[in-house]
Amino acid sequence: MISDLGEVYMSAQNPIFIPGPTNTPDRLRQAMQGQNIDHRSPEFADLIIPLLDGLRPVFGSSDAATMIFPATGTAGWEAVVSNLLSAGDRVLMPRYGVFSARWIELCHRHGLLVDVIDCAWGDGVPVAQIEARLAADHQRRIKAVLITHNETTTGVRADLEAVRAAMDATSHPAMLFADAVSSLASIDFRMDEWRVDAVVAGSQKGFMLNPGLAIIALSQKALAQMPAAGLYRSFFSIADMLAATRDGGYPYTPPTQLLYGLRESLAMLQAEGLANVYARHDNIAEGVRKAVAAWGLSLVARDPSCYSNTVSAVYVPADRDAARLNQHMAAAYGVSVGVGLGQLQGKSFRIGHLGALTRPMMLSGLATLEMAMLDLGYPIELGSGVAAAQTHYREGDQSPNSTPLAA
Ligand SMILES: *Cc1c(COP(=O)(O)O)cnc(C)c1O
Repeated sequence: MISDLGEVYMSAQNPIFIPGPTNTPDRLRQAMQGQNIDHRSPEFADLIIPLLDGLRPVFGSSDAATMIFPATGTAGWEAVVSNLLSAGDRVLMPRYGVFSARWIELCHRHGLLVDVIDCAWGDGVPVAQIEARLAADHQRRIKAVLITHNETTTGVRADLEAVRAAMDATSHPAMLFADAVSSLASIDFRMDEWRVDAVVAGSQKGFMLNPGLAIIALSQKALAQMPAAGLYRSFFSIADMLAATRDGGYPYTPPTQLLYGLRESLAMLQAEGLANVYARHDNIAEGVRKAVAAWGLSLVARDPSCYSNTVSAVYVPADRDAARLNQHMAAAYGVSVGVGLGQLQGKSFRIGHLGALTRPMMLSGLATLEMAMLDLGYPIELGSGVAAAQTHYREGDQSPNSTPLAA
């Protein structure tokens, strides 16, 4: 049996096709090896202040308060919830995958009253129902609408612009929070235009870094609500964080190496140009969707208008166990795609296509998937999906101004 020796040859550039953590370019790995510095020195101020400024364009905001906690995306949810709400507050949340379900659970644990709108997994965000619930809330008890911008379970992107329009149509004063952990820095995000009040992201997806940073932005409206919010917070006190970083400090020992990495990541995103980053993700994702169609398989996401450009969840035929495909692909070829989560476990796999990814890298993932599926007796013709993606990638916008993943 031929071994692909993934652990030997692929250690420097591990080709994982899971929707986070993503591949980390060598340039970022090197940046994250910097020496420790005195975090009470001007040198640290020169690191943190430009970083917080540099994040704003990625959120699509000119005046948001940006902050970075040494934590993961889940902690980012906790930070926004505990700093902006009080026990007994009512929040409105659609549940359409594992990540929205986990955020709902976190709100329950914090003593919030959660109005859940349950949706079929694979459907987009239920804009009409959100509007109806807000319209029915005559006493304006709902304090916030919490939306998972990109449901990584199903490969569905929520139309936040439409959610904002629904909120405006009812003139409801609730805040709008978004989980953008698997979308920020990969898919267009317009915090100011959509008037999103709190946005949560993490270092290990679109930013292509090691896990360990919760990256958050708050609107001026959210900042104004903070003093009245009564939930407990200590480590995740946003007031402490903003007070310290305003002067170039940090409320405790900062994750300096991850911050070096983020500085480099922002430089890469800026060099490529955010519009080109989004176009690259759109192009790569559409090639993946063409491959899935050529295999005769279907996406979990039902409506093309809500297809995610960072992850595609794919149903396997009803008589197959998707988990076996994941296991076989990893064991035989040393390559991972994401497993099905929650009620989609065993029924679907997920192709992550975000972060440091190019068309040739994606083609290798699709080609490997074809081999793994054929090995397990799936009715797949080798090269069918790859050819569909190749055709799309050759036709794709190859803008001369675009320098993907500039070195
Ligand atoms: C990955 C992910 C998270 C969780 O992030 P952690 O960093 O693992 O805590 C939250 N929401 C979405 C949509 C995600 O994809």
